[in-house]
Amino acid sequence: MRTGFVGLGAMGAPMARNLHRAGLLSGVWNRTAAKANELARELGCKAYEDPAKLAADCDIVVVCVSADQDLRDVVAFMRAGLRPGSIVIDCSTVGAATARALHAELASIDVAFLDCPVSGGVEGARQGTLAIMAGGDEPAFRRALPVLEKMGRKIAYLGPSGAGQATKATNQIMCAGIIQAVAEAMAFAKAEGLPLERVIDTLGQGAGSSWYFVNRAPFMARMDFPAGFRVRLHEKDLRICHEMAAARGVRLPVVESTLEEYAALIREGHGDEDISTIYRHKSALFAAGGPGPKS
Ligand code: NAP
Repeated sequence: MRTGFVGLGAMGAPMARNLHRAGLLSGVWNRTAAKANELARELGCKAYEDPAKLAADCDIVVVCVSADQDLRDVVAFMRAGLRPGSIVIDCSTVGAATARALHAELASIDVAFLDCPVSGGVEGARQGTLAIMAGGDEPAFRRALPVLEKMGRKIAYLGPSGAGQATKATNQIMCAGIIQAVAEAMAFAKAEGLPLERVIDTLGQGAGSSWYFVNRAPFMARMDFPAGFRVRLHEKDLRICHEMAAARGVRLPVVESTLEEYAALIREGHGDEDISTIYRHKSALFAAGGPGPKS
């Protein structure tokens, strides 16, 4: 499986390194050529100047770029080189409609397109422990598995094109609701004068616990929100969720309220902090005092 990698950002570069360790990586391309040259020097693989040339040399091209239009641009750049029978694995987080459109477009030249968004962050990308949610044609998925397995630990086939992105959107909606609830509860606990570390330790074992409570409530207790899952990235993902729900004529309250909070946090200069920074707003509610009785 000659595999190429396109998009060597915070996620893409470590994912490409894991493919290299498995002996699968033939070459890389990145819009900012310096990043591709540097990684190619480090790994001893080829840095391409033209993504179509990389596609022409590969059986599988993995793509990991920022957003919908970026993915459409990259596929357009590669299209002339893509060989019949080859597979494009897209690990970017984009809308399901974009995935379905690219799947149909590439099917017309006998190229398979799999939407394979990932979860697990930069740590998971580095350690090769990402959860990968795949949508597209099942035979192509089965052929792509040896490559996917080198980048992730949980690899799931969810159904036809778009199903991977729809699953990722489902996850992002859950993250929004959970981080809102954890931040609100922590602000309440603080206002009640509770010992926050002990509250986290105790409720971390309880029915209301979650990964976010155990791992991010301590950020709230310390009022320190180092970049983990950045507000800007989750905001982009929630705009995708907003669009997907709107296409069904629905507005989801958790998505809408989190988007409003994130817009304010970005305006206030917190867009590159971890999403647990939403605690700033929740604790400010108590600082300002609510409209209700104060006894
Ligand atoms: P990033 O560090 O900002 O890297 C983005 C990559 O996309 C860069 O290589 C960039 O090239 C390339 N790119 C952007 N627009 C492009 C365009 N129009 N044409 C060609 N290349 C373009 O982002 P990231 O954190 O790696 O995230 C990548 C994707 O993974 C996103 O969809 C994100 O939502 C998703 N994701 C991220 C995380 C996370 O924790 N970071 C977790 C799960 C999923 P340049 O170097 O030239 O800018």
